[in-house]
Amino acid sequence: MSDPATSEMRFRDPARAKALGARLAELVAAAGRPISVMHVCGSHEQAIARYGLRAAFPRGLDVTMGPGCPVCVTDLPEIDEAVALARAGVRVATYGDMLKVPGTAMSLADAQAEGARIDVVYSVAQAVELARATRDPIVFFASGFETTAVATAAVLVSDPPPNFTVLSAHKYIPPVMEIVAEMPGAKVEGFLAAGHAATITGSAIFDAFAAQHRRPVVVAGFEPLDVLAGLVALVELVVAGEARAVNCYPRCVTAEGNKVAQALLWRVFQPIGGRWRGIAHVPSGNLRLRDEFAHVDARRRFDIDVASLWQMAPPALVEHCVCGDIMAGIAAPRDCSLFGRACTPDTPVGACMVSSEGTCRIWHQYGGVPDLVQLGARPDAARAP
Ligand code: SF4
Repeated sequence: MSDPATSEMRFRDPARAKALGARLAELVAAAGRPISVMHVCGSHEQAIARYGLRAAFPRGLDVTMGPGCPVCVTDLPEIDEAVALARAGVRVATYGDMLKVPGTAMSLADAQAEGARIDVVYSVAQAVELARATRDPIVFFASGFETTAVATAAVLVSDPPPNFTVLSAHKYIPPVMEIVAEMPGAKVEGFLAAGHAATITGSAIFDAFAAQHRRPVVVAGFEPLDVLAGLVALVELVVAGEARAVNCYPRCVTAEGNKVAQALLWRVFQPIGGRWRGIAHVPSGNLRLRDEFAHVDARRRFDIDVASLWQMAPPALVEHCVCGDIMAGIAAPRDCSLFGRACTPDTPVGACMVSSEGTCRIWHQYGGVPDLVQLGARPDAARAP
């Protein structure tokens, strides 16, 4: 058996990180112009911020975060549906990150403070256990991309108890990349795709995208060297003008992906168009339960009255939130006048400050960007390592 400490160092080796940083600098210098790429995953932003990788990026390389935080892209009406159910006396189980996400008039945490019954769970399986232990109707407010949607699907084909239903806010990543690639003002020259989602979809799903949108896609893992090696491969493709997909995470991802998981996902869910918070309407970007699963679909089992919430005044500060522009890669947390001041993890104004995968939350927690000190991020974390 391998020594965990040694195997961890294989992906966190400072000498290799330095060499990859030097290669990035060489590539950008040879290009003779700034290069802008986007990663589409909150876990990539966490790795970049937590390990101070931006300190290893050359000045001319801009690595922005796209719409890769499932909590951040859960739209206001979806939060409103969960809040309306909770305020109507239905027990709602959901992930902890969803509690503070602002809805039109309030968050689930606000509804809980008013007396609504909200259960924080760590998995859909735990929500099912909760349903088995009570006669109360339990609505699982499900968020996440295709990776977590597969877990929800697995539960729904396994005969869940009759008092268990799902309010799906699951989303499907490939269609939103098409929107972001063509968004006016976006300067994305290539994409770093999320390794965990690609374990389900496979890397070949990006072949057609790369050709159609004339941008390379590199699938990368989440260790610091995974991210750096993925960026080197991506910048090499950008500089060479090669629009193709490359799998830099072969220890987990295959070209065809997990076919059993794909079959399960599409048996239970159908992709439909819907809004991603602050970004746009994304055709085929939302995952909704198929008719065959209407009996476990909270939208069909309950009358959900969101209209009463829409008549309540929205919090005034929300209109200053630029989460949507951040997730489209055309703004950064430093561009928001509320960052670290009115908007902090304890007092979030927008969804990007709530989730551990939200860019504002990650930058506030880890810093790693020099001009964040005066904006209110942790001063000790804002220094480059
Ligand atoms: Fe929105 Fe807060 Fe981020 Fe500003 S700092 S963009 S208000 S989440």
